[in-house]
Amino acid sequence: MIIFGTKGYLYQLAILTLVCAQCGNPAAHTLRKRVTKFTLFFVPLFPVSTKYATQCTFCGAEHKITAEQAERLQAQALGGGQPHDRPHQQQPYRS
Ligand SMILES: [Zn+2]
Repeated sequence: MIIFGTKGYLYQLAILTLVCAQCGNPAAHTLRKRVTKFTLFFVPLFPVSTKYATQCTFCGAEHKITAEQAERLQAQALGGGQPHDRPHQQQPYRS
């Protein structure tokens, strides 16, 4: 007897401030990746599908996005597009 099926994994990749298309608020959005894996005898073998979505924390609306968009948003969340948000660690003190 062969036992197989699928198992879903949910990853939270980043939290971004985006203007929601649903409620119009510049609210925090979670960037999520949902991976469905094929399992054999409850052992996950390979991913069957990978889907990306953002969810508005204000109204809860979920928007499906492409992998390309997700990568761009993740890079943005990590500070790639916002250099002014980086902490200044070597700040000279003048007394
Ligand atoms: Zn919203």
